Amino acid sequence: MDTKLRGFVLSVYIVFGLPVITAHNDPSNKIMEDFSGYPIHEPQSQDSLLSLSVDSEGLQKQIDELSTLSETPAPSVTRILYSEKDVLARRFIKNLMGLSGLSVREDAVGNIFGRWDGDEPELAPVSTGSHIDAIPYSGKYDGVIGVLGAIEAINVLKRSGFKPKRSLEVIMFTSEEPTRFGISCLGSRLLAGSKELAELLKKTVDSQNISFFDAARFAGYANHLQDLTSVFLEKGSYSAFIELHIEQGPILEEEATSIGVVTAIAAPASIKVDFEGSGGHAGAVLMPMSRNDAGLAAAELALAVEKFVLESGSIDTVGTVGILELHPGAINSIPSKSHLEIDTRDIDEKRRNVVIEKIHQSALSISENRGVKLSEFKIVNQDPPALSDDLITMAMESACQELNLTFRKMISRAYHDSLFMARISPMGMIFIPCYKGYSHKPEEFAAIEDIANGVRVLALTLAKLSLA
Ligand SMILES: [Zn+2]
Repeated sequence: MDTKLRGFVLSVYIVFGLPVITAHNDPSNKIMEDFSGYPIHEPQSQDSLLSLSVDSEGLQKQIDELSTLSETPAPSVTRILYSEKDVLARRFIKNLMGLSGLSVREDAVGNIFGRWDGDEPELAPVSTGSHIDAIPYSGKYDGVIGVLGAIEAINVLKRSGFKPKRSLEVIMFTSEEPTRFGISCLGSRLLAGSKELAELLKKTVDSQNISFFDAARFAGYANHLQDLTSVFLEKGSYSAFIELHIEQGPILEEEATSIGVVTAIAAPASIKVDFEGSGGHAGAVLMPMSRNDAGLAAAELALAVEKFVLESGSIDTVGTVGILELHPGAINSIPSKSHLEIDTRDIDEKRRNVVIEKIHQSALSISENRGVKLSEFKIVNQDPPALSDDLITMAMESACQELNLTFRKMISRAYHDSLFMARISPMGMIFIPCYKGYSHKPEEFAAIEDIANGVRVLALTLAKLSLA
């Protein structure tokens, strides 16, 4: 027996325990076959058990079909929370969950859960999932592979004859993207028990002045509810949460590495700053002493942000002034007001907060030195970063080894629903390569072979954690 095969046999033995591998006749398989037009029955031979074979063709078809539920033409995808297309996409997901034999439940904001009961259903389940909403003119893989891939991971395990001890649960999170209501990771933040968000949503409206509750009711959620605390989950509701996602960065593709094992998720803080000066005529007001230029105050602060971020000495600290507006915005007028929005991120919360404090001190001294008023310095959000759980990353690493896939540890610089799930559950993320790291645009692409590798690693990791 070659080493590779011996590895497989060993892993199947360790993970599944050979005695529990039995022919598994799930009646839902037949419906799945009818539904999709491609066979999912695999011969129950030792080979199929060993290779954890993914139905790549079927998975690609599902990804393509889901991408057609879009408000903009292909290849772009636009799927906004609680829109008609979003409702159809949700139906598509619930249907697939049902066909995979999962029992489906939804909460008041439309987080969707599909559960496969384990032999010991009283134990905290192992969960996995992601989102399917898409910002305007984005691609078809962001989030989607973590939902469709999770359902396929369940199918893979069912086909292999695996029997979970802890139940396995697939979650589709509501509104990871902030498009409609300006709140990112809305569903997972609520699941993690954000009382501030539950309060905020009572008075949140979209750009058309439609309230969050009206929009939710249009999609069939939040009926007869005044608040959303029913969505909160207790800490410990899951023994583990894992998200499969495209990297949205170039590293895995450049290195030709199959899998990224995420060790930490950086978290952003956003800050809004306003300076006010006296303005005046660009020709008439003389430079020395008599000017208090709100535009130069903003420019000085923007450069200070760069300086403080670089001073941290870590490549993981980043800062960006993405918005800088001057008022009145005329070439011959000294800016009387300026507005900046600053995004700073790190995987180390303390280090990031040091940067925020330096930015604050700098804004105060710039205002004093330049005689401008610091009329606002507001930290809009300051989410803590999250570290992956060691047991979960170890399970992922050994899954990669047993499946003979190359992997590397990495951090996630974008944030995900996992950041919030980490508040109530041990968390881990699996990254797969994507073309040039593109995301949030129609050119976003992940090869089905890479997606299938991610699904196999996810399936094996779920299996290991289910038995833990
Ligand atoms: Zn995403």
